[in-house]
Amino acid sequence: MKGQKEKLIESINLYLRKNKLDNDTKIYSIEQWRERNEEHLNDSDFVIVSEGGLNFILNYGDSDEFDELIESFGYYMEMGHSWSYGFYFDGVTKENKNLGNINYFEKLKDERWILKRNKVRVKANFECQDCGNTSNLEVHHCYYKYGLEPWQYPIDALRCLCSKCHEERGIVEMELRARMADLKTQDLKIISELLYGGINYYPQNKVLDLIQYLKLSIDALKTEQQ
Ligand SMILES: [Zn+2]
Repeated sequence: MKGQKEKLIESINLYLRKNKLDNDTKIYSIEQWRERNEEHLNDSDFVIVSEGGLNFILNYGDSDEFDELIESFGYYMEMGHSWSYGFYFDGVTKENKNLGNINYFEKLKDERWILKRNKVRVKANFECQDCGNTSNLEVHHCYYKYGLEPWQYPIDALRCLCSKCHEERGIVEMELRARMADLKTQDLKIISELLYGGINYYPQNKVLDLIQYLKLSIDALKTEQQ
């Protein structure tokens, strides 16, 4: 079973990949870091080195989501050089070492989930992010990862939805995942790049318009094949 540190590193890696910050950011185990004979952070659990995008976010940008992610694993961060960050476990989550025995429904009553859920609602201005409804708001996990507690997901992996949209979302996401069974991982990478890369660099509505256009031309493709 993976420890908090391994789970946190996985989540940070996902955050970096999703935000295209993984090219110029490197995570060092404490053993690798000590081999560098650097002056700082030799007592930390692991170290992140970034002179690029992540460094900019942590120094000048909005680092709330990153800070919040680390905290949800019971960790805090200290700066070593201006480009190195050490991560330390503060032990808060030790109190809950028997959490594995508690069922998911009980976990949703945990104050750490309630706190995180509220942050997602505030970010969404207390509106359903699909239809704008302001009542019956729930918070949806866009993915699940084995071993993570409900509150250990980055805020950008969560979505504020009304109960009706939440139910529909679950069905559509499951269909999407089922369809992925027909595709190679390489195909999924291309689709992910189109969706996420496209939305990052171009207006989201234009990218979705393009995809909508491709959908409309499926009929044309069919007739060409016949
Ligand atoms: Zn809705």
